[in-house]
Amino acid sequence: MAIQVTLLSHTDDPLRSLYMAYRTCYSALTPQQVAARIEDERIPRDKMQEFITERLKTGHASPLEQIHFEFGISGVSRAFSHQFVRHRVGISFEQQSQRYVTYKGGTFPYTVPQTVEKAGLTDEMRDLFSAAGDLYEKMVAAGVPAEDARFLLPNATNTNFKITVNFQALLHIADLRLCTRAQWEFRRVVALMRGEVMKVAPELGRYLQPKCGEHRMGYCDETEKDWEECPIGRVRPHKTALFRIYDSYRKGELQPLREEDWAAIEEIGEGDPAEAPATW
Ligand SMILES: Cc1cc2nc3c(=O)[nH]c(=O)nc-3n(C[C@H](O)[C@H](O)[C@H](O)COP(=O)(O)OP(=O)(O)OC[C@H]3O[C@@H](n4cnc5c(N)ncnc54)[C@H](O)[C@@H]3O)c2cc1C
Repeated sequence: MAIQVTLLSHTDDPLRSLYMAYRTCYSALTPQQVAARIEDERIPRDKMQEFITERLKTGHASPLEQIHFEFGISGVSRAFSHQFVRHRVGISFEQQSQRYVTYKGGTFPYTVPQTVEKAGLTDEMRDLFSAAGDLYEKMVAAGVPAEDARFLLPNATNTNFKITVNFQALLHIADLRLCTRAQWEFRRVVALMRGEVMKVAPELGRYLQPKCGEHRMGYCDETEKDWEECPIGRVRPHKTALFRIYDSYRKGELQPLREEDWAAIEEIGEGDPAEAPATW
């Protein structure tokens, strides 16, 4: 079964809602007055976007909790769902039950990872699951409740979710689960969620990046070994590199500015460098 992610609903006009939340903090105007100014276009959308972009550069994140997205997610494995439901804050899950849903004829949907296909082991995997399905059916027919027959089912068994997540939580999930260290299925799901958000609110969706993205931390905080092995490590500094630079700076070991650096500085400065104060 293929993974499907669909945005079912979301905060009406996320940009406006986020602007209102931030503006309320930093304005003498009441939220009602801000709303009226948006309504009569005294505050145009590009101004809202500009303001939000600046706020998003800061650590003021609680307004992001006011924006929510609802997703339908189907065709994911129970291996994925175990990881997904570990997220505790700003996200609510409903997941298909293996107690109330009995697989008819012992046939359950499941995922075969590409690595298994490449290893030529798909048929063996399918045979094993088919035998598990037969025994599941036998158990159900013998009166074993679905909640106990499911003890036979593998991590590969597919499941479905309906979730609601706020934007702050979604950013955190993207930070961790778009990272190349996360499991491929989780990366796929979050990339699909990102695609859905981009369709309705690209100005927010672009912030859904792995934590090393230019709109997030901009550097990697995984181990140096993992960073070296990461395909995007080449374009992202590791945190130890940043600390090395800072350490050199503290010890006064930073490369001194050269003659040509000063020439460039003086060229950029306005006015005649000869008239500049000696401290230049
Ligand atoms: C690459 C990777 C590998 C992993 N491997 C394993 C593994 O081997 N075994 C395993 O068990 N789990 C593993 N996890 C899951 C991980 O331990 C967390 O359960 C998961 O990331 C969700 O928790 P969170 O704190 O990141 O997010 P959330 O639970 O959504 O929390 C959001 C934010 O709130 C903070 N927060 C939440 N609750 C509290 C609290 N009670 N007190 C203080 N702050 C809180 C969190 O620190 C976080 O910043 C892995 C995760 C990743 C990304």
